[in-house]
Amino acid sequence: MERYLAPSLAVDWPGLRVERAEGARVTAADGRVYLDFVSGMAALPLGHGHPEVVAAVREQAERLLHGPLGVFYYDVLLDLAEELAAVLPGGIATFFFGNSGTEAVEGAVKLARFVTGRPMVVAFRGGFHGRSLGSLALTASKAFYRHGYQPLPGVVHSRFPYPLADGLAPEASVAAALEELDALFRHVVAPEDVAAIVVEPVQGEGGYVVPPRGFLEGLRERADRSGALLVFDEVQTGFGRTGDFFAAETFGVTPDVMALAKAISSGLPLGATAARPELMARWPAGTHGTTFGGSPLAAAAALATLRVLRRERLPERARRLGEAARAELWRLAGRHPGLVREVRGPGLMIGIECASGELATRVLRAALERGLILYPAGPDGRVIRFIPPLNVPEADLEEGLEILGRAFDEVAGRP
Ligand code: PMP
Repeated sequence: MERYLAPSLAVDWPGLRVERAEGARVTAADGRVYLDFVSGMAALPLGHGHPEVVAAVREQAERLLHGPLGVFYYDVLLDLAEELAAVLPGGIATFFFGNSGTEAVEGAVKLARFVTGRPMVVAFRGGFHGRSLGSLALTASKAFYRHGYQPLPGVVHSRFPYPLADGLAPEASVAAALEELDALFRHVVAPEDVAAIVVEPVQGEGGYVVPPRGFLEGLRERADRSGALLVFDEVQTGFGRTGDFFAAETFGVTPDVMALAKAISSGLPLGATAARPELMARWPAGTHGTTFGGSPLAAAAALATLRVLRRERLPERARRLGEAARAELWRLAGRHPGLVREVRGPGLMIGIECASGELATRVLRAALERGLILYPAGPDGRVIRFIPPLNVPEADLEEGLEILGRAFDEVAGRP
């Protein structure tokens, strides 16, 4: 493997050689079956290989594999756009389709810079927006991601409210974050130079950090006042994970632009920069482009995914199951004071913050040994993401919780 794959990518937890996967179950090359609560890094809201998605992709593959879009148009993509518009907030109904989350963010920044004619972007410490150079300039979840690639110009980073790490009550944490942003506007970047404020409504890679009420509202106000666009990077939060179709609804704040990817297409490469038609109309032909973006195959997968999410009301289900899972996780963690500091997150976007990265790593190992795959987040990996598919059978969810409970027991030294 080392010979063929660049080490910059190939080495990751748990590095499992996989044979096949279905729903929330993965079969490793050695025949062992695992419960997978990583969900393709939040890209598989319907689990692995949902039959309707597989059928849609197979059917599309026989009809038309590649456009490219613009040279050709195909109904499957236009149908997808129409159905996406029906679930997006605030009249957001026009799309630039790419292949990934990072491209969705790049598109948002290019759109904002183009239409405002302004050079700068505000982003947040702890945020993750991708690894290509433009989005990497925004990413500030770990300095290591930026190491070796500086300078990454054009972005000013402000503070994201994180009450537990700040040691502050939620309101004070929000006030401190907004005060820092105001101070940046006074001292570092003039508001009239800012094209966009780009934020994850819940920070994902940064540690499943949920902003208390008032923060996103505060960003909305400041964007309106300064003429900057408010961009929500919903690459990880989108498509039902937070208990609504989008975190914008969960928090009741509507952005001007959204970056979408991951769960949009159940594992095929797709991303979208989305905005209201009037805004997109100011981004004329030829100002941005792609060869593979919005491919027929990815569009077919996305359309099938969206239809299942809507028909089975999976966002609502995520809200209900998430609430029960959080309560159970608090109960399991409560047996070992000192191991888990917080269980948080809307819907099935649950983060379990351990007292240290080392403890979290031990929990991940103990869970893996018992057949449950989980993945860490946060700068030192102390947050365990608990993100099963949104259609996870209740029995699988219970099994996952039970395994995790036993992993807590083992790490905390109980039989
Ligand atoms: N934005 C967010 C919020 C993400 O979580 C990620 C991926 N973890 C990205 C952007 C980048 O997406 P991709 O890996 O598809 O480029």
